[in-house]
Amino acid sequence: MRRIDIFDTTLRDGEQSAGINLNTAEKMEIARQLERFGATVIEAGFPASSPGDFEAVQRIANTVKNSTVTGLARAMKSDIDTSWEALKGGEQPHLHVFLATSPIHMDYKLKKTPDQVVDIAVEAVKYAKKYFPLVQWSAEDAFRSDPEFLVRIINQVIKAGATTINIPDTVGYATPQEYGALFKFLKENVIGIDRVKLSAHCHNDLGMAVANSIAAIENGADQVEGTINGIGERAGNAALEEIAVALHIRKDIYGFETNINLQEIKRTSQLVSQLTGVVIQPNKAVVGKNAFAHESGIHQDGMLKNRETYEIITPELIGETTAPLALGKHSDAMHSRIGQ
Ligand SMILES: [Zn+2]
Repeated sequence: MRRIDIFDTTLRDGEQSAGINLNTAEKMEIARQLERFGATVIEAGFPASSPGDFEAVQRIANTVKNSTVTGLARAMKSDIDTSWEALKGGEQPHLHVFLATSPIHMDYKLKKTPDQVVDIAVEAVKYAKKYFPLVQWSAEDAFRSDPEFLVRIINQVIKAGATTINIPDTVGYATPQEYGALFKFLKENVIGIDRVKLSAHCHNDLGMAVANSIAAIENGADQVEGTINGIGERAGNAALEEIAVALHIRKDIYGFETNINLQEIKRTSQLVSQLTGVVIQPNKAVVGKNAFAHESGIHQDGMLKNRETYEIITPELIGETTAPLALGKHSDAMHSRIGQ
């Protein structure tokens, strides 16, 4: 079975979403739990963005030992220098440096030509490699970029020393078929792509972040990025607990494994919800309070005879100790809805 790395960005992409403001102690508590959860990489913050982020990233890098700790940096020497100060105490110092590659971002945000963007990306990766053994380079808004341009710039950043290449769907626009096809295209056309880790990063604007992430894995991604409970900018990021459980429950068709400790899912989800104040919708897959509740009488009757009649995931799998078989107004078989 192919091992898929899980890159958690709850403390960076998740934390930057509206209304969330964690202090360093809270970030530390979440990072320690993410380590128990089994995240391969923990993105602890954006060190150059504020002294508070710097301090949190530094403390997490110095504390967490079983996950690789990374921080985000713009393609600027000052961001990379600051990130090194924050991350150098880590077991395996890892930097995540990004630059936009789509026409709309290059023209309007960066005001740079494609040639200039290639030069800036290469220079940033080379500079980062002076400090960091592990450098992830992200093509921001990759999905809306010209695939031929992506091949060109990725060829160059791999040559410059990048160890991971991330292909984000920054605005949540992709469909699974298209996003998978982009990974297949890059696998077939980028020189040296098999020497680096290829990563997927999806947003949920069209409700397809988890499906898109899995499509990327099926087409060659070695790593998926996301957050606990799917928190993040706008409609959020891919929910890591959903990806982990989907790959586990349907390993018969996918055949991939992760290092995620599924037993820690419920605890991790609850902790992130409590500390961020972001409530989990009751019907959310895997971690919603109703994810294992069977309201209709017909379902309850079936469950009591054999749980597999209506249950594909057991609450115990994700570390939930009490399984609610909700006895609500629909329990009476006479009045039950036929649940489908
Ligand atoms: Zn993102």
